[in-house]
Amino acid sequence: MRFIRELAAKYGVEVSLKPTGGPDGYLINGTIVLDPELYPPRMNWVFCHELAHHLLKHPDSKKITPEMEREADSMAAELMLPAAKFRQVMALYDIPELKALYTHASWEAIARRWAEMRPAVLTIYDNEQFTNRQGPKGLNFPSRPTPQEIELVRDCFQNRKHLTGQVEGLALRSYYVEDTPGRRRVILLTEMQD
Ligand SMILES: [Zn+2]
Repeated sequence: MRFIRELAAKYGVEVSLKPTGGPDGYLINGTIVLDPELYPPRMNWVFCHELAHHLLKHPDSKKITPEMEREADSMAAELMLPAAKFRQVMALYDIPELKALYTHASWEAIARRWAEMRPAVLTIYDNEQFTNRQGPKGLNFPSRPTPQEIELVRDCFQNRKHLTGQVEGLALRSYYVEDTPGRRRVILLTEMQD
């Protein structure tokens, strides 16, 4: 909670932990309501996202557009992992070290920030099922994982540890993460080799 308390004090918002009846969190009259059951890094992210809506003076949740959601996500990433510092440390460290440095952020938030800045393609599998694949705008990449990527992800689930690979000028890094009960996750980053 220290991360949330500090940001809340800095930006003058109230925080209330109570059952939300559905969403992970929401903003009402300058108060950010958060589901107390959330895994802490997830709660931090939801807090930053709602804080961003507040700072951007977005209207009530019913009038939020997809564009506003993207703006809020982008500002939330900056609140969680400020770009100037992140850029410096990502030149020195790999994802697990960044995770140890930014304890308030989830593996996913850190990998997304990394993917944005390198740039790299981010692919997520949960419980061995494909969940999500995204790359920065303007980067051309196959919309579904390639056979080589799938093989590395499968090995990662089997061995339950981080693995790296190389294929045709691409560097692949896959991270095995158990951070939420009932969810085994592999986060894969694919980027051009240096
Ligand atoms: Zn939102």
